[in-house]
Amino acid sequence: MSDAAHRSPAASAVGDKEPRRTCLGCGKKQSKWLLHRLVLTVKHQVVVDTPQTAPGRGAYLCGAGCLKAALKRKAFQRALRATCELDLTILEEALREPVRLK
Ligand SMILES: [Zn+2]
Repeated sequence: MSDAAHRSPAASAVGDKEPRRTCLGCGKKQSKWLLHRLVLTVKHQVVVDTPQTAPGRGAYLCGAGCLKAALKRKAFQRALRATCELDLTILEEALREPVRLK
């Protein structure tokens, strides 16, 4: 695991108990609750799992800006271990929404 920590001085108070996930785009580790969770449908379509309750593997992104970076790195295929179909328009829109969990 590479932890290039020279980027964010604001590695603020995220408690140890909180589940952390790595953003596929920028590689930053954040609390799961601050990231968008993306999952694969049965048709291999990548969708944003807003309630974060879908079963199976998830990929995490901190925002729309990281979507393209993740695509470039083919990070989805790696994280979800499958072929991924992405509808960029829909995904970007969904990623612009703030993460809101109940
Ligand atoms: Zn990111």
